[in-house]
Amino acid sequence: MYFESTLTLPAAVAASGGALLGAVIGSFLGVVLLRWPRGEAVAAGRSHCDRCAAPLGPGELVPVLSYCIQRGRCRRCGGRITPAHLAMELGAAAIGAISCGLFVDAPLLAASAALLGWTLLLLAALDLTAFWLPDRLTLPLGLGGLGAAALGLGPGLVTALAGAAAGYLALAGVALAYRWLRGREGLGGGDPKLFAAIGAWLGWEWLPLVLLGACALGLGAVAVLRLAGRRIDVAKHLPLGAMLAAAAWPLWLAGHA
Ligand SMILES: [Zn+2]
Repeated sequence: MYFESTLTLPAAVAASGGALLGAVIGSFLGVVLLRWPRGEAVAAGRSHCDRCAAPLGPGELVPVLSYCIQRGRCRRCGGRITPAHLAMELGAAAIGAISCGLFVDAPLLAASAALLGWTLLLLAALDLTAFWLPDRLTLPLGLGGLGAAALGLGPGLVTALAGAAAGYLALAGVALAYRWLRGREGLGGGDPKLFAAIGAWLGWEWLPLVLLGACALGLGAVAVLRLAGRRIDVAKHLPLGAMLAAAAWPLWLAGHA
């Protein structure tokens, strides 16, 4: 009964379409993830093997499938294809499927959900791999949140503006207090800006819950790594941005579904 009422045929078709689009977008995001932190041009030049630089043929550009068929290895040099490519394709496909399937009757909401999810996915991946939350992503993301609010797709514009301000001030304050108490940087400079952008998308009332969710994810990740026998130096780098991004998207969905 439950599935009959929620998983309708149009929703299933929309989710499949969203997954396909997401996989293609994720393929691009994977390239951005690997090239941008190295200062390489993101859009210039054909897609190539990260190791031998051989250009990829059309068959090797098919997301997910090509990785599985080639078992994660380059056809020419046999070098391992960074699993980050597959992770980004699968993550972006899931985001596309959920966004389109959940908001099948509201295309603008579906588009907002997907754009927010894909941007947060890239930010989380950049924070995890390069410890970097570029302003060129967080600032447009914040403006996008305010724009969505102005279009009536989010919280009211005042709530969104208050969210952006509260998010920035909260983490900038924490960073300041940490520096004063411990005499060194504890938060990355991008964290307050990301939290501000999240505040613009969700509204200020959601920010405590986002922070709580991020902490829960962080503790869970630490527990899993400990169980796997990996030592982690949390003081060295705390990927707070990645955890904030991972907590914010499901909460945004919960607020709109
Ligand atoms: Zn190669």
